[in-house]
Amino acid sequence: MTTSPAPTQAAPLSGVREAVRRTPAYPFTAIDAPIKLDQNESALDLPPELRALALERLATQEWNRYPDLHADTLRHKIAAFEDWDPSGVVVTPGSNVLIKLLTELAGLHQTVLSVQPTFSVYTLESSLLGAETVLMPLNPDFSLPVEALSAELGGGGPGLLFVTQPHAPTGHLDAEADVRAVLDAAGEGWIAVLDEAYHQFSALDGRALVRGRENRVSLRTFSKAWGLAGLRLGYALTSPALAAHLQKLVSAFNVNILTQTVAEVALEHPGYVRERAAQTIAERERVLSALRHHPVYTALPSQANFFLLRTPDADAAYRHLLSRGILVRRQDKLPMLEGCLRISIGTPEQNDALLAALGEISQ
Ligand SMILES: *Cc1c(COP(=O)(O)O)cnc(C)c1O
Repeated sequence: MTTSPAPTQAAPLSGVREAVRRTPAYPFTAIDAPIKLDQNESALDLPPELRALALERLATQEWNRYPDLHADTLRHKIAAFEDWDPSGVVVTPGSNVLIKLLTELAGLHQTVLSVQPTFSVYTLESSLLGAETVLMPLNPDFSLPVEALSAELGGGGPGLLFVTQPHAPTGHLDAEADVRAVLDAAGEGWIAVLDEAYHQFSALDGRALVRGRENRVSLRTFSKAWGLAGLRLGYALTSPALAAHLQKLVSAFNVNILTQTVAEVALEHPGYVRERAAQTIAERERVLSALRHHPVYTALPSQANFFLLRTPDADAAYRHLLSRGILVRRQDKLPMLEGCLRISIGTPEQNDALLAALGEISQ
């Protein structure tokens, strides 16, 4: 009779890949506050008449059935809305999932290139998948380091490039020619991603920079201007060839019936998005101009639905706002963002409350 050898003593959970073990979890703690300006969500929900329409449509559906495998109806409606070839559209529960899948597609065992500071999900996924993360510091005015990125794109790779326009978390928008120069520097060895989560609040629509280029992707989301963060829906606009590869990485039936239905209703009535984006832009400019002569804080210009506030003491400013019922996001630990809080634009009433609270600080 043979007995199997005693297993050699291994460290607990050593089956978990080293890259996963050494990656810290996504840093976010939910805090309750009456005025929530910490996640760049829309301050307003889907308009009530569209909610009612979506609920009516949901009532007629069979929840016991699997949804469309690749959400074909929804993908076609997105394609029509964006004037894009439907075979170049990929949908997932939030564009964060697309960031993960693109990292799997082009970053794993390769390079993930972006700027610093950058959107934390890029570096989180890159770290989890054990890709080599390369971050080029932004210029002091937060503009893209075009030459440094171009040099890396020319000499490095293969891999994945993330460019965010408007940039998160600064809200900076680059000149279209600079964005184009960086994307142009990304040759065949690179997959170049333009993350456009906030494009509705800015002067740039990057579709023209992506269209007709096989290795380029625009990432868009229903979480911000569309006011549907709770639904979890994001999409990629890319070439049919790249979409076919990306689609292989998407798990089957990944966008559920509820999300597909509500998003379809929203896409049939997109007027509210344009209207609200215009209101958000007007409110952003009102808030920034009201803060222009603040004796202590500096509000930085933005082309998104949020802005950075530079303070001498981020912790004190954060706690002061929270004591007035206003929750914002600290960004002061990020490179170049010493003392900075990130504040979403809310409703006019919420913005008034913010300005009143900031007005209490005079030294
Ligand atoms: C909010 C945001 C997204 C959207 O993520 P979802 O998963 O679609 O909610 C994507 N990229 C950036 C830079 C963002 O700030």
